[in-house]
Amino acid sequence: MSQDEKAVVREYFNTTGFERWQRIYGEAQVNRVQLAIRRGHQRTLTAILGGLGSVKGLTICDAGCGVGSLSVPLARGGATVFATDISEQMVEEAARRWQQEGAPGDLTFRVQELETLAGSFNIVVCVDVLIHYPLPQAEVMLTHLSQLAKDRLLFTFAPQTPLLSLLKRVGNFFPGAAKATRAYQHPEAQLRELLVRLGWRVDSCTAINEQFYFARLLDCSRQSR
Ligand code: SAH
Repeated sequence: MSQDEKAVVREYFNTTGFERWQRIYGEAQVNRVQLAIRRGHQRTLTAILGGLGSVKGLTICDAGCGVGSLSVPLARGGATVFATDISEQMVEEAARRWQQEGAPGDLTFRVQELETLAGSFNIVVCVDVLIHYPLPQAEVMLTHLSQLAKDRLLFTFAPQTPLLSLLKRVGNFFPGAAKATRAYQHPEAQLRELLVRLGWRVDSCTAINEQFYFARLLDCSRQSR
């Protein structure tokens, strides 16, 4: 199942998903729904960058970097950034945006699925990626990311709450839902259990709720033994 799911996600982010998301993650005019998603996503970025503080001299892996919304500011802040994404369209666009901003800092882009990433980084970030995968697969992905992170792991997921499940069901009645990939919600308690098993301490959990954008950001550090 996982290969199928991934193939669907890759195809989506190289075609209709690319068109949709590179607009949302940009400044061009978008519709009301997309504007709300853009705002929510920007709040997530602000929360992450604020929570990280100075990143000078740190190595950071941005797993599922999209158009580089996080990678570029992190590189500008003095981190050595390794940014990867399963979609070559996304990576190309990210590289273009980075160049357009004068290619600040030390930033390497790579087309690669996060499951096959190797290496060791001070910080691993993974924003708005897990929502595309069912829980078992999301857990495998988190476990892999955990192995790459020495000090800190930050990621977002869509929380599984009764209200959101209802909204999602209602949303399925609207035309246009078919244009999207499936969105999966995950129970926070289960993710937290996994994190503890992997040796992480959750330092903060931030809820970012905009209309049409509901995310939780978990900021974790290595548990001292
Ligand atoms: N993290 C970025 C982009 C979020 S959109 C940001 O917050 O701005 C989700 C991205 O995850 C897409 O660019 C998609 O191509 C990528 N993605 C999905 N599955 C992936 C996987 N298995 N490995 C790497 N990237 C993946």
